[in-house]
Amino acid sequence: MKNSIRKTAIVTGASRGIGREIAIRLAENGFNIVVNYAGNDTAASEVVSAIKARDVDAIPIKADVADPQAVKRIFEQSIENFKRVDVLVNNAGIMKLAKISDCSDAEFDSQVSVNLKGSFNMMREATRNIAEGGQIINLSTSVVGLNLETYGIYASTKAAIETLTRILAKELRGRNITVNAIAPGPTATDLFLSGKSEETINRLAKMSPLERLGKPEDIAKIVTFLAKQEQSWINGQVIRANGGII
Ligand code: NDP
Repeated sequence: MKNSIRKTAIVTGASRGIGREIAIRLAENGFNIVVNYAGNDTAASEVVSAIKARDVDAIPIKADVADPQAVKRIFEQSIENFKRVDVLVNNAGIMKLAKISDCSDAEFDSQVSVNLKGSFNMMREATRNIAEGGQIINLSTSVVGLNLETYGIYASTKAAIETLTRILAKELRGRNITVNAIAPGPTATDLFLSGKSEETINRLAKMSPLERLGKPEDIAKIVTFLAKQEQSWINGQVIRANGGII
């Protein structure tokens, strides 16, 4: 299929974890992919190669989503390469766990910058560039419902994303663009696993009645479903995907 008749999806934080899986699955479903990432060149180029091996086009764009100018560049380069942007998956995120009493200024600022401001920057630019019939899909977390200790700042940034999701869906009235969020539970990626003991990981895995951690493909399947929805009837919603934890 030629690039000009394929749709294009930008996936932020697509070099690793959930974003990587989303990028590959969307490619398998016919989207050209913009693989955004922060610094890991090797991982990003591996994802681009994996997509090209499926006979789909992809480009890597290293850009910090927290930087509004860098975000403008993501859209400019995407449109330069693929002529259009149809889907934005706002997946880039970081997590720094600390009790509110112990949370440093740096931990607070970095999570607000990447998770909240980064997603906002991408959503704002999407409103200016995304094609009619497009989809914006934001990543939240089920911790917004679980309210676990030490997740205060991280969960707050994601609660704000859920609010932006609902409001942007309304603000895009008349343009046939949907905005939804997916809120995963604990999912086996670096973000979740690093720094946790085996005991903590097992305890969190058992919280779900399905008694396992989520896998990146569990989330990527739902993103793909939303990205491909033909009648766009799911709009302004937060879908919790967590095996039933909450
Ligand atoms: P990972 O840590 O595995 O991957 C994070 C990705 O985000 C990497 O590709 C990284 O790029 C990129 N990234 C980080 N900061 C920036 C930035 N400033 N600008 C652009 N890209 C950036 O995370 P996950 O895959 O686990 O998480 C993906 C999303 O899912 C996040 O929003 C997270 O909050 C959410 N989530 C995850 C859960 C989990 O349990 N894993 C549960 C609920 C929600 P690079 O490789 O270059 O560093």
